[in-house]
Amino acid sequence: MMNDHFSLQGKVALITGAGNGIGAACARCFAQSGAAVIASDINGERVEALARELVGEGFEVKAIQHDVAKEDDWARVVDALADWHDGWDILVNNAGIYIGGKLEENSLSQLHRINGINIDSIFLGTQFAASAMQPDGRFGRGGSIINLSSIAGLIGVPGHSIYGATKGAVRSLTKHSAVEFAAFGYGIRVNSLHPGLIATEMGHLVFKDFVEVGLASSESEAQKMLENQMIPMGRLGDVQDIALAAQFLASDASSYMTGSELTVDGGFTAT
Ligand code: NAD
Repeated sequence: MMNDHFSLQGKVALITGAGNGIGAACARCFAQSGAAVIASDINGERVEALARELVGEGFEVKAIQHDVAKEDDWARVVDALADWHDGWDILVNNAGIYIGGKLEENSLSQLHRINGINIDSIFLGTQFAASAMQPDGRFGRGGSIINLSSIAGLIGVPGHSIYGATKGAVRSLTKHSAVEFAAFGYGIRVNSLHPGLIATEMGHLVFKDFVEVGLASSESEAQKMLENQMIPMGRLGDVQDIALAAQFLASDASSYMTGSELTVDGGFTAT
């Protein structure tokens, strides 16, 4: 008999920030693994296009416009989920933004903006999922929450202070909510995922930032420096590397994991 612990068959997943990069890869990977997927993004057009493509390939995917920093949007998305399916098993809190720069040049308004998206979204998403997935909740069958942190939430990286601070908060919020939900018998696991440098639009902003803070003279030099000096495997990560790790955390294969941090970084943090 085949081992199907990694299958997402019969599960319903909400993936935020699914219009691009890692979120879009998660939506595709989860759908291919059998999940019914709600792909949400602040950019409604992008996520509609992705859903059309995946539905065309025979998968069960629904797109919804969703600003993860807005409480009302979360309420509307969870209602839409309930109208669509009778369960909710997986939340990938993926949507996020990057603001780089030298710490002494970052403004307080930049800090408030990045906190307002990268931290508020995890707080709100976890709160809505906890209420709905716990045994007395609307869906009531437990679940798995995966929070996108970063290696910048684990170690220091030049030009990453305010971004890294939000990702450190994501790591911490993950651990606190994980042990709280376990203590109250909710059957909800919460884990954080820590990608290294991944080839997405956001990943490329890092090269730009290395130039702006004066660490490299061009974006290609920044990329070479990162790949040759900081990433032992010598390459950027691919979105699929992260989507498969998220699938593991979403699946029953990780059923004894909660409050854990899963690092997928080509060895970046091992040096
Ligand atoms: P990306 O910029 O390619 O895509 C992010 C998506 O989030 C976009 O579709 C965007 O429209 C959406 N989004 C932004 N603000 C939103 C909001 N308020 N509400 C809803 N959607 C919103 O980014 P990515 O590289 O795919 O990153 C995804 C996640 O992974 C982020 O949380 C990021 O911090 C994290 N991460 C990325 C890297 C990397 O190198 N790319 C490394 C570590 C962690």
